[in-house]
Amino acid sequence: FGELATADPEIAAVALAELERQRVGLQLIASENFTSPSVLAALGSTLSNKYAEGYPGRRYYGGCEYVDVAENLAIDRAKALFGAEHVNVQPHSGATANLAVYAAFAKPGDTVLAMSLPHGGHLTHGSRVSFSGQWFTTVPYHVDSATELIDYDEVRTLALAHKPKIIIAGATAYSRTIDFAAFRSIADEVGAILWVDAAHFIGLVAGRAIPSCVPYADVVSATTHKVLRGPRGGMILCRSEHASAVDRAVFPFIQGGPMMHAIAAKAVAFKEASTPEYRWYAQEVVANASALAQSLEARGLRTVSGGTDTHLALLDLRASDVTGVDAERRCGLASITLNKNAIPFDPQSPAVTSGIRVGSAAVTTQGFNTSDMSIVGELIARAVVADPATTSGEAELASVADGVRELVRAKPAYPRRTG
Ligand code: PLP
Repeated sequence: FGELATADPEIAAVALAELERQRVGLQLIASENFTSPSVLAALGSTLSNKYAEGYPGRRYYGGCEYVDVAENLAIDRAKALFGAEHVNVQPHSGATANLAVYAAFAKPGDTVLAMSLPHGGHLTHGSRVSFSGQWFTTVPYHVDSATELIDYDEVRTLALAHKPKIIIAGATAYSRTIDFAAFRSIADEVGAILWVDAAHFIGLVAGRAIPSCVPYADVVSATTHKVLRGPRGGMILCRSEHASAVDRAVFPFIQGGPMMHAIAAKAVAFKEASTPEYRWYAQEVVANASALAQSLEARGLRTVSGGTDTHLALLDLRASDVTGVDAERRCGLASITLNKNAIPFDPQSPAVTSGIRVGSAAVTTQGFNTSDMSIVGELIARAVVADPATTSGEAELASVADGVRELVRAKPAYPRRTG
């Protein structure tokens, strides 16, 4: 952190401490990843200085000749990568992209059918604490209590009953592939817009590791920083007929100047995601999540829905009598970062929960394979039942932390420079 360390040692120390935290522990938050040095270089570039309200070739500021090239590259690469007719790469985040989609396709008060938050949906899919739940009438659909898979019959019944303007497919804690054809047919039956919020799994679509939602959806919103491994940010893909509504919703309706350094970094990530190496990575992410889920199952932690088709798994801790919040804390003490998560029909409050969510995107970037994931499962299972209030629990957590250090030493994230 050379110059920063001299100019602002306090912030340099924070950045260094965070780098060290990412290096010495296991990063299993399903929405996180390790971006490449090239993405980080674009993010830290002087493109950050440039104001560029508007779109390439039609800006409200002078001097945009170079940032136009960056944004056009990002758009063209994303269109090619996802086979999309139109792409807007300006949303600052996934939530902002979602706000823009609402703005493009609905008016306050309109009805939106979306996955219930406790069953895996996102805050922006109609939660009362988000604009989405306050400005729109949201009708939640659920997973089936027996299979824990999306109840497509319920989706259809609710769609027929409520005639929503928009149907949202996509979630934040659902580990299975989604039947986009079923959603398309329900949307067509009731004349709704089909919006896929692919924030979590767009990186798997890019790597051809799961079926694409793009051919089925009217509009797809996504983040660029999860499995896709780009900078923090959002984007919207849509059919040409919706291009101008989407572009107007992002700017000038929701946002002002785009973050050109982030857009350039998105372009870098799209280029990286177009390579055979990335396709291999995406397949590995899925294989690793599955290996982790199997390892945890073998040690008595039940996987919600019985497994995973994606980069994440949701674990039900009820059999171990440990809550999600306790499991998160215990794993944290053993250098394993993951998050507590509500499971469908959770008897605990959202602040406590009966589950944890784990993801394989970051550890796969650092080179973990399915054998490593089997060990990761064993370490998590040991940490979850180790009570730090007891001497034996404390010792067990220290021993798990040793196991973590051994794993990450062999395959470090951001390897240290030698020489
Ligand atoms: N949509 C879904 C399904 C998400 O899971 C998330 C974040 O995890 C978002 C939207 C919001 O993305 P961001 O945190 O970039 O605003």
